[in-house]
Amino acid sequence: MAGLIPQAFIDDLLERTDVVELIQRYVPLKKAGSEFAACCPFHSEKTPSFYVSPRKQFYHCFGCGAHGTAISFLMEHENLSFPEAVGQLAEWTGLEVPRDADPAGRDPTRHLLDALEAAATFYREQLKASRAAIDYLEGRGIDGATARDYALGWAPGDGNSLAQALRGRFDNDTLVAAGLVSRRDDGRLRDRFRARIMFPIRDRRGRVTGFGARLIAAGEPKYLNSPESAVFHKGHTVYGLFEARKAETRLSELVVTEGYMDVVGLARAGFRRAVACMGTALTRDHLDLLFRQVPRLVLCFDGDDAGRRAAWRSIEQALPVIRGLREIRVLFLPEGDDPDSLVRREGLTGWQQRLDAAVMLSETFLQLLSERHPLETAEGRSQCAHAGIALIRTVKDPLFQRQLLELLAERTQTDRDQIESMLAAGPEDRGHPSAPAAARPPQTRPEQAEPASGSRQLWAALLARILQLPQQGWDAPEVRRLAGTNTRAAGILEAMIRRIGESPAISTARLLEHFRDETFFPRLAALAGVPLDGEDPELSRRIALDSAERLFEEHCRARIRALATTGRPLESEQLAELRRLQQWLVQRDSADRPG
Ligand SMILES: [Zn+2]
Repeated sequence: MAGLIPQAFIDDLLERTDVVELIQRYVPLKKAGSEFAACCPFHSEKTPSFYVSPRKQFYHCFGCGAHGTAISFLMEHENLSFPEAVGQLAEWTGLEVPRDADPAGRDPTRHLLDALEAAATFYREQLKASRAAIDYLEGRGIDGATARDYALGWAPGDGNSLAQALRGRFDNDTLVAAGLVSRRDDGRLRDRFRARIMFPIRDRRGRVTGFGARLIAAGEPKYLNSPESAVFHKGHTVYGLFEARKAETRLSELVVTEGYMDVVGLARAGFRRAVACMGTALTRDHLDLLFRQVPRLVLCFDGDDAGRRAAWRSIEQALPVIRGLREIRVLFLPEGDDPDSLVRREGLTGWQQRLDAAVMLSETFLQLLSERHPLETAEGRSQCAHAGIALIRTVKDPLFQRQLLELLAERTQTDRDQIESMLAAGPEDRGHPSAPAAARPPQTRPEQAEPASGSRQLWAALLARILQLPQQGWDAPEVRRLAGTNTRAAGILEAMIRRIGESPAISTARLLEHFRDETFFPRLAALAGVPLDGEDPELSRRIALDSAERLFEEHCRARIRALATTGRPLESEQLAELRRLQQWLVQRDSADRPG
């Protein structure tokens, strides 16, 4: 969507926007050195770890990792789409978003959202008229107030009453695209949801993006969700989040349950901090979404084998996203119980006691690990250590990783140094560069150990510094040489240098926004927020240029190896290239030698 708005306009807009002033509208900021600090608006905290840099025009939270530009802030905090965020900024700065670039003049998903909202209203009205549906809800103990808070509804069973009700207000394509109806072979429309209790799924701003639905009579499938659409993505959607935020503005903990009946059942009992995934396993995206709201999560699972397997999968997803103050605990329910049945039997106090007794992720991790690899034998302990290390390797937070290693060493009766060296020697994790990895380039020569990881960290060290200090003037031979090598990363570097050349006073935010449409944008945004440990700009520049030099050297060696092993006689151009590369290496080595 960013493509609809000319890049030059976004650049202009950001130049006239002050991210400090913008965030100040929502969060009281206090001066802290050359930056501004506040308690983070994206997670709950008592001491400020949210920083806004006027120089970079960029914000960064050391607690939850939230970061970005003025546009990102509006998108995240106000839950706006990219065009909406740009529109909002434009309004404040008195600029007009170029019309010809945005022919519809509005967000194209708007029609879908309108149709979904109209459907939710229709279902709510139908519920009032359906004795069977009301009886069912009352039978589950769900009162009118809870039904109203969660906007529950009823989809009649005849199969076309929604299509009838919305006819004339929305075209058929919109209703199909919103996942509300399907087209039959004869071209007529059929309601997707029939004879079901409807649970509208609302985004952070309360807009209906899809539905969960439950049959009240026997039949299959018992639960049915909206299909994926332009506004509904199961992997990024959590049921009950809007309602939980509405009930408590300063949330610090959320409880993740298995389904929407759990959420609504707990709400009826007076517990309004429960959410649920939409019939999918918990993903890292879900966890990131939830951790942007609260620092603490409790994950609930059935106590049976299936529940323990689900817990294990969730832990695999959770290990890489734990950092800073983020905390996860795990609660196994008694077999045969769900949160709804528990809270009915034991009341709110009993439920709260169970939550308080939920076990830390680290402890659950080791428990489930040792269930898979029993610790009674030497073989079991060694398998357990191997399996544990493989997962601990995915942990991004170095302190949490160390804690887990110590626990693993203790449980498996393995020497801690040995566990640590196994971790260091193992295969490299292919995730995003983590903050510590990006902060300093590795100290060993890249060709000597883990070339892939080495070059990844060198690239991170280089790009982080260019992004954060664009005004340092990066038109240096080291950078130009590297930018000329024909790789994807070099392409990014080349584009950055060109942008900086065009406007030498460019800010981090403006530079970054040029890449929003690229798949690597999240990585660049993360690098823009990586702390440089108080380096002075001169040192930053030296580290960056040194990284560029080493990357180019690595490129030379790889290229020479490739040319030397073609198995065919080299053409004259290739020979010339080989000679040039070798010469450069020789010169570099002699320059390296002292004296
Ligand atoms: Zn935060």
